[in-house]
Amino acid sequence: MKTHRLSRMSSALRPLLATLPALALLSACSSTPKAEEEAQAEASADTKVAQRSLASFSKPASEQACYDRAKEPYTALVDAHFHPRPFGGAAMPAPELFAMFDSLGVRFVNYFGIGQVLDLKSGCTYYLDCKGTPASPSVKNDFVNGMDVVAYPHENLHITLSMTFMDLAHPDDIVKTIEMYDKEYPGMFSWAGELNVMKQALLGNKHEPATFESIDAWAPFMAILKERNIPVTLHSDLGNNANPTEFLPLMEYVLAKYPDNKIVWAHMGLSKELTKIPPNMHVSIMQDLLDKYPNLMLDISWDVLYNAYHQWGPIFIDFFNAYPTRILPGSDFVAADSKARDQYAKELEVTSRALKYMDDNAFRHIALGENFFRLMNLDYHAPEVCKAPGK
Ligand SMILES: [Zn+2]
Repeated sequence: MKTHRLSRMSSALRPLLATLPALALLSACSSTPKAEEEAQAEASADTKVAQRSLASFSKPASEQACYDRAKEPYTALVDAHFHPRPFGGAAMPAPELFAMFDSLGVRFVNYFGIGQVLDLKSGCTYYLDCKGTPASPSVKNDFVNGMDVVAYPHENLHITLSMTFMDLAHPDDIVKTIEMYDKEYPGMFSWAGELNVMKQALLGNKHEPATFESIDAWAPFMAILKERNIPVTLHSDLGNNANPTEFLPLMEYVLAKYPDNKIVWAHMGLSKELTKIPPNMHVSIMQDLLDKYPNLMLDISWDVLYNAYHQWGPIFIDFFNAYPTRILPGSDFVAADSKARDQYAKELEVTSRALKYMDDNAFRHIALGENFFRLMNLDYHAPEVCKAPGK
């Protein structure tokens, strides 16, 4: 695998890298020829090594075989942002999903509802196809997910169930509903989110964004999450192309109000509505907030983000390398039954392309799960990365 060694080049070479379209770092829809990616995949298949089991990560790092980035996948073994059920309609059956994770070497998966369910009478499966149909936060998918995880145990898979029912604009009933989860699924839900603070894409489906007042009223449930060490993933658009930081004050307010909660900011605030923010400006906003709030983490999920940002890859890679302990990987895949079965592998690959170019330390923390294990206090350990020859 020649390409990932590029990540070890000095940063002085990176501008050169950025000028080569064929090597565009985060490209999913740019001029990077598909054939090239496929050829790479084929070449790496020749030298494939045996996949690591879930159990292998319970050994201390020193007792695990070092991770050979030239022979083992660059795709993350953690998917910290996955939606096993769609907004409406049928989901991929759990046994199929689990087999899919297993074959791709994904061992840790966050089960994010999806929380917003389209009006059941509508017959809709995707919110953008059904503008005007309400998509409201609900317990429905969480409950099915809880049942699936019990019904289909898998020795190679660690699934984290997440509470996604919370309506951040109307938080009054949240504590009561958590109590209901405690009764029905005792101790089983150890994450919260993805919850929408402000998601412009969902406004056409009657999504009500959080307000400063409603954020104040989160206090009782945020106290429960803090006490139970439950991270919460928040989707909060940074802004849009007309005003790239229009909604930043909302997220700043959340962070200032709840600095002791483990907050994960989904997609680093990016969205389909925000594709034109100068990358240096974006990275500098992220850096300031990470420096100010030590409990904040960023999730770099969603292939849309990679489509929009490919030409600025090096700036992001340098940023990830500088903040290796603060990033979580994820696909943001929505497992609607209507999708082709190889679609997840494709999205996992696209959302892992940034990982391929990170340095070994960032790769170990982000792709190999060290950040995830630390955040969740799990008794698992990321292997060390094998030293490249001559290092
Ligand atoms: Zn998502």
